[in-house]
Amino acid sequence: MVPPDDFNPPIGAAEQIAPGLRRIVAPNPSPMTYRGTNTYLLGTTEIAVIDPGPSDQTHLAAILAAVTPAQKITHILVSHTHLDHSPLAAPLSAATGAPVLAFGTATAGRSAIMRDLVRQGLTSGGEGIDTGFVPHITLADGERLRSADWTLEVLHTPGHLGNHICLAWEDACFTADHVMGWASSLVSPPDGDLTDFMAACRRLQARRWGVFYPGHGAPIDSPHTRLDWLIAHRLKRESAILETLSKGPGTAADLTSCIYLDIPKGLLPAATRNVLAHLIDLHGKSMVQTTAGIEIDAVFGLREHC
Ligand SMILES: [Zn+2]
Repeated sequence: MVPPDDFNPPIGAAEQIAPGLRRIVAPNPSPMTYRGTNTYLLGTTEIAVIDPGPSDQTHLAAILAAVTPAQKITHILVSHTHLDHSPLAAPLSAATGAPVLAFGTATAGRSAIMRDLVRQGLTSGGEGIDTGFVPHITLADGERLRSADWTLEVLHTPGHLGNHICLAWEDACFTADHVMGWASSLVSPPDGDLTDFMAACRRLQARRWGVFYPGHGAPIDSPHTRLDWLIAHRLKRESAILETLSKGPGTAADLTSCIYLDIPKGLLPAATRNVLAHLIDLHGKSMVQTTAGIEIDAVFGLREHC
């Protein structure tokens, strides 16, 4: 795996990264998007654009400029409806006539527990959901898409977002924000669900992969090592939460300040959401409980202490 700081791709230029595969990085770098969103152009004649990216005219022009007269964009695939991945789908479709394919609208694939928590008043962390997104064609788990140049298999991988999909291409997989090399994925309830996230990691781990192409950052050359790390990282976080709760009850924010000792202040709200995701997962496993409903400021305690 390329160490994060060694990933400095040109922004807005189509780079050949494998036979039949090009990548254009969008001009939206940030602490949440790293160098910017990776837009992939798969195929040599019939092109699938995977994750067109944020609403940005420069990026739209860069994608259109990368298509030669002998090529045609035939599919616009969206991994999930975060604002750094999906908004350019509609303008790209208008410019090319290609349909937009995705798992569904912003709340599609949301787990039953998260639907319940929304009904009980759990509010979103405001991570930038593309609420107006509507695909032309909805994709189902296990579905295969074929063109003259490529075959893709849809894998529904909820967790980072309920409608998140990965796309398998032979022994490669476009993992979007589910597995990335430079950071662990954000799981922020009620859009994100950690129980689903872990299940999707284990599902990916059960197959043989050669390489992952993430939504941000460099390709991952050791997919299984990365999946092992991701699962272990989450289990370590869970142990730290249980250990901290063994000293007494606390809110997600209290726990975050005890556990995340060296992260930039700007990332604390996202970290707090991650801790809340763990607390909801632990609540689902009957290991913690809360006296009131589950909200961002709810006080959680170990079950035997309540
Ligand atoms: Zn995302």
